[in-house]
Amino acid sequence: MNNNQNQCDIVQDLLPLYYDHACSLASCQLVEQHLTDCPKCRNTYEQLANNTINTVIKQESKGVLARHAQKERNAAFKAGVVIAGILLLPIIITFIVSMANGGGLGVFLVVTASMMLVAALTVIPLISSQKRIIKCILCSIAALLLIFFFVDAMNGGGEFLYWSIPTLFGLSVVFFPFIIRNITLPPVLSDKKALITMIWDTLWLYLTIFIVCYRSGMAEMKTGSIVAFVLMLGVWLIFLTIRYLSVNSFIKAGISTFLCSIWMIFSNDICTFLIEHKRQLTISHVNFSNWSTDISFNANVYVIILIAGGLISACLIGIGIIKMKKR
Ligand SMILES: [Zn+2]
Repeated sequence: MNNNQNQCDIVQDLLPLYYDHACSLASCQLVEQHLTDCPKCRNTYEQLANNTINTVIKQESKGVLARHAQKERNAAFKAGVVIAGILLLPIIITFIVSMANGGGLGVFLVVTASMMLVAALTVIPLISSQKRIIKCILCSIAALLLIFFFVDAMNGGGEFLYWSIPTLFGLSVVFFPFIIRNITLPPVLSDKKALITMIWDTLWLYLTIFIVCYRSGMAEMKTGSIVAFVLMLGVWLIFLTIRYLSVNSFIKAGISTFLCSIWMIFSNDICTFLIEHKRQLTISHVNFSNWSTDISFNANVYVIILIAGGLISACLIGIGIIKMKKR
């Protein structure tokens, strides 16, 4: 038995060499002889052969896939360069026409910026291998700003910020979450991406109000800021509830629903008080037999929102508490 085990050990040591046809004739014969007699070692040899084949196949297929991906990238890159070349045509033509007409380079610059916008959406994703969406978004925004800038310059100037800040705010609300999700932040900030997004959007909102109201005067600016403050306060409370309150999602949904209904019902009255110093409580004008005046119509709707919102949030919070206790 011991002798057999010894031989098994020797053969198993030799198996990889035997598989690669790298052992001496004598060892080869020893292994072959042993494999015919010993099912255990035969099994080991079969496993070795299978694994080796699998590894080889895996490496081969990885290689094939990598080559294929490289080929596709090369093809996409070439397509990108071709499109970039095509986009240069209108730029060159308008340059020549502008020079010939002697009417300045305004149209040429606008066309150049427009072609850059097209390039941002077509060429950039084709020639870049990673972070395509972010590059696409950032280049498009840059090109759009250039268009604004040149169009504004052609029309006498002075309106660039008025057009670009609100546009950037709108684009940022949609695209900033994508961008921040795909970039790597320092460790201190890496778990604060949602908070950064909220701060960013709030700042842009105020910047937009500032830019839009700037021309209309201080009174407009004050009104805009107050309305934005009251509405954003609600948005921030919902955000903080969802992001930082350590309760289950049912309770969070309940609290958010409740906050939403409260803000819908009272924000108008609060804004009126802050702006016009007029005390009013719209909901106190409730009268379900009168839907014809604005104030009672609003009050009736508010009461319905209050009841529905209250019921839904109570249900959600109730379910949440039951689930929490079951744990
Ligand atoms: Zn054996």
